[in-house]
Amino acid sequence: MAMPDKVKTHADFPIPDTMKAWVLGDPGELTLKDKPVPVPKKAEVLVRIDAVAICATDLEIIYHGPPAQIEGGAPHNKNFTPGHEYMGTVVALGPGVDEYEIGERVTVEIHAGCGQCKRCREGMYTSCHNYGQNYGDVDKGHRANGFTTDGGFCEYQVNNINTLVHVDDSMSDEEATLVVTAGTAMYGLTELGGLVAGESVVVTGPGPIGLLGVAVAKALGAQPVILTGTRDNRLEIGKKLGADYVVNVRNVDDTVEEIKRLNGGKGVDYVVECSAASNAINEACQMVNRGGKVCLAAFPGEPPEVDVAHLVRNNIYVYGIRGEGKSATHRAEAFMRQKRFDATLIHTHTFDMEDLKEAIRYAKDRVEDAIKVVVKNKHAQSQKIAAE
Ligand SMILES: [Zn+2]
Ligand SMILES: [Zn+2]
Repeated sequence: MAMPDKVKTHADFPIPDTMKAWVLGDPGELTLKDKPVPVPKKAEVLVRIDAVAICATDLEIIYHGPPAQIEGGAPHNKNFTPGHEYMGTVVALGPGVDEYEIGERVTVEIHAGCGQCKRCREGMYTSCHNYGQNYGDVDKGHRANGFTTDGGFCEYQVNNINTLVHVDDSMSDEEATLVVTAGTAMYGLTELGGLVAGESVVVTGPGPIGLLGVAVAKALGAQPVILTGTRDNRLEIGKKLGADYVVNVRNVDDTVEEIKRLNGGKGVDYVVECSAASNAINEACQMVNRGGKVCLAAFPGEPPEVDVAHLVRNNIYVYGIRGEGKSATHRAEAFMRQKRFDATLIHTHTFDMEDLKEAIRYAKDRVEDAIKVVVKNKHAQSQKIAAE
């Protein structure tokens, strides 16, 4: 294999020159093509991709474009490979890398910031000021896998060592793909808003981030944790992940009053909004007590109406989160390693990488109540069989 001299490889993990990679053409159009296997630079490793979870944001990118940004614009017809929730095995080390070993299983954060802007210096690399600036004369080295650079719907990808999280042997490949989702919930709860143990929490919307938001909030010691949604089967999973109460908003006249009733007549300390429903932000602001906090983790389609005077009168904090900053994924993985919650409850389907289009159909149309759909490369399977 033609890896440069300073890149370390190992005979147990032979690296081909080319790989199969899904490439985005026009909106909604994916084609399996041959691409060169990328070469790790300084502070990077080459990860053999073993499993990738499909995220709602992948569907946004594939069908509409944003928030992906390739060479300053839409990601279509630019030989771009999407996919950002992946895990795998380190198979080559860039020059000077000794933080990871060849053969080590890792899961991968999405964002490697530029490392030089104000936010990166603060650890808020998901809000890097040089987002997408990684080409031509404005190359700042920013990477966001499957957003601003090639992602994981392929066989190999390079990653900055700062984005890697060691995966314990007790964790399956499928579970490891969920670390970033749990890390996003962790970032929303601990870093930006500072949830304190014993505080009351509502999570609105039982999607993957909402469900793992319940799990992380409970593991952090919140009490009570209340989950709202419209689908009973997902609310049941929320109970298994630690929700003390679940509320199907279709079955109550007034969701805000129901939340207050469940919390002893008072608003809660903290709401994590994961539903993107048009009235959800305003309701979240009514659910918190005076001085409470509302964390926004979903993207509403239309600009929602919010009673701002209510926020001002009651000193309510509202803030958005982007991704999984401040190494929150490492703390999420620590919870998962301790089996503080079972993230695999949200994994519903697995497909081969070559069947990605069918896997996307399952995720998009929620076929068979799909929540997290994972695609796996055959090489991961065959190596496991060889090892047994
Ligand atoms: Zn995602
Ligand atoms: Zn930066």
